[in-house]
Amino acid sequence: MSGTSKAMAGMATTAEYATVIDLTRCDGCPDRDTPRCVSACRTKNQARFPEPEKPILDYWPQKKHEDWSDKKGVTNRLTPYNWTYVQHLEVEHKGQKIKVHVPRRCMHCDNAPCSGLCPFEVNNKTPEGAVVIDTEACFGGAKCRDVCPWEIPQRQAGVGLYREVAPKYAGGGVMYKCDMCIDLIREGKPPACTKACPNQAIHFGPKEEMRSYAGEWAKKNQGYIYGDKENGGTSTFYLSKVPFEAIDKAIREQEVDGKPGRPAMPIGVENPLDEPGNLAKAFVIAPVAGLMAAGLSVYRTMKGEEADENTKA
Ligand code: SF4
Ligand code: SF4
Ligand code: SF4
Repeated sequence: MSGTSKAMAGMATTAEYATVIDLTRCDGCPDRDTPRCVSACRTKNQARFPEPEKPILDYWPQKKHEDWSDKKGVTNRLTPYNWTYVQHLEVEHKGQKIKVHVPRRCMHCDNAPCSGLCPFEVNNKTPEGAVVIDTEACFGGAKCRDVCPWEIPQRQAGVGLYREVAPKYAGGGVMYKCDMCIDLIREGKPPACTKACPNQAIHFGPKEEMRSYAGEWAKKNQGYIYGDKENGGTSTFYLSKVPFEAIDKAIREQEVDGKPGRPAMPIGVENPLDEPGNLAKAFVIAPVAGLMAAGLSVYRTMKGEEADENTKA
């Protein structure tokens, strides 16, 4: 299979799509400091990267804030300026050390907790299968990151709507992550990272076609799939000849900037939305976000009334 499904050419934009990431084809772009898929994502999304206003205030009542604006060049982890990255691993399997490279970014979950638990309702699953944060309306409360099993969304402070509504309070910023290149999909084009890979390690196409391809590949190669069941199912299917338990272990054992590697690949991780008790708990532990959501609602109403007044005038 080439990087893009044949059905992608001239595709109906309302179909649901998915990605297959074939780890047996990814060599991590050894000739590059920044892998091609990562560079392609950065180039494609550059115009949407945050430009915070400084000085940036701390998140009340904390004495800190998350600011990546002076570290835009970081490509060895997810940041608000880097929506995909590649984990370079040595995985132990059957007494051997095997090099495995794992491109990471949002999995675009079927029943995404980051969307279902967003207090501001600004993170939504589109009919195409992409989970997309509306960065114009996001408050940066980071609930989406807390409930994501892979901690994918990344926060930049000093930017976004909170500065108008409640500049001194919790939240304070905007969350950024891969949006599956939803704009390109709607133009009938594949995501930028898919096209950039010289090894056709990233396939993109209609979801059921991708699922069948992954299943057949696993059967034929006695291989493994990750992402079909995790978090209740996702729109990303990783393929590997090495068990994902071993890959998960290698990630957790790897040190990045003095900390354990992440995001890990927990096997069969469960979706908090599947347990109603957890849903309630998640909201209870976010009282400030709840207040902010209420504030946003008032702000929107006021803006709406203002617009009505202007229309009348
Ligand atoms: S997916 Fe392709 S472009 Fe990305 S690191 Fe692997 S080989 Fe390179
Ligand atoms: S991987 Fe995380 S951020 Fe992406 S859709 Fe799933 S829960 Fe949300
Ligand atoms: S799908 Fe688009 S936004 Fe997501 S990692 Fe690939 S290039 Fe970046």
